[in-house]
Amino acid sequence: MGEFDLIARHFARPVKRAALGVGDDCALLRVAPGMQLAVSSDMLVAGCHFFEDVNPAHLGHKSLAVNLSDLAASGATPLAFTLALSLPGIDEPWLKAFADGLLRLADEHECELVGGDTTHGPLNICITIFGEVPPGQALLRSGARAGDDIWVSGTLGDARLALDARLGRIELPPDAFESALQRLERPTPRLALGRALRGIATSALDLSDGLLGDLSHIIEQSQVGAQVDADAALQTMAARNHPALRLHDDQWYQCVLAGGDDYELVFTAPASRRDQVMAAARMADTPVTRIGGITKEPGLRVVDRHGKPLARQRWASFDHFA
Ligand code: ADP
Ligand code: MG
Repeated sequence: MGEFDLIARHFARPVKRAALGVGDDCALLRVAPGMQLAVSSDMLVAGCHFFEDVNPAHLGHKSLAVNLSDLAASGATPLAFTLALSLPGIDEPWLKAFADGLLRLADEHECELVGGDTTHGPLNICITIFGEVPPGQALLRSGARAGDDIWVSGTLGDARLALDARLGRIELPPDAFESALQRLERPTPRLALGRALRGIATSALDLSDGLLGDLSHIIEQSQVGAQVDADAALQTMAARNHPALRLHDDQWYQCVLAGGDDYELVFTAPASRRDQVMAAARMADTPVTRIGGITKEPGLRVVDRHGKPLARQRWASFDHFA
């Protein structure tokens, strides 16, 4: 099988929304008149973003999920995506499972695969995604204001727990490992929540590198500061309630404050809009938790449930070049 058979077999599907899909030099998207196009790319590199032997269906899911998550953080609605694939060889069962995981999530969000590129090389997956958002309504990192609440969606830290277990740094009971691994390998992009927060949230981003590091992008771009209640954040962690799981305080905090790969939304909203935030969360069927507030003084402070400061430099976020 060659490159073109591979594309035809696994990635060429009839399009419903786009004007033209896989097979020509360019795909043609229909963008509703007056809407803005939201565009984002994410690359996943074997050995860096995922274990080479990861379940290929999960890898397909995650490759698209991290891109959908960027649209969610912008409050955008998915339209289509392209897939650039570098493959070390043609492994039919692997490709089939990868495409299944990828296209299942794509169908769930009505986001069509419209093109891409396929080359021979180290395993590497790069997706560019396109969405649409009404002009002026995209959620940005720069809109947080002093007095705003800081919220997160879903659960934080469980993906990091699975990563630490896979790397042999900690041991987990089998059921705890299984559910943490789901969070690492099959994150849930929070698209309904992102859309529901348009006009309510003042800023948003999706958590890929760890809460504190990612939140620092919001405070820098918004020119404000933040105070985070580490224990409120910790309460969101699913594994926290596992009866047989014993970790040091520092390990719990590490997962929640600096663990990457959560793909939850962190967002800010005025304190006067708490009811609207809760209503948006209900509408999106996504739990949200208030974990702190935006301050006028610059910098990021982390406190425990008693308001006692924690030394945050211990919880560095992930940085590819640091
Ligand atoms: P070109 O040489 O014009 O860049 P290619 O020969 O690389 O086009 O690809 C042929 C068609 O297949 C194009 O429409 C391209 O978008 C699509 N394509 C290539 N690789 C993929 C892929 N991995 N997934 C989806 N579509 C792909
Ligand atoms: Mg090409």
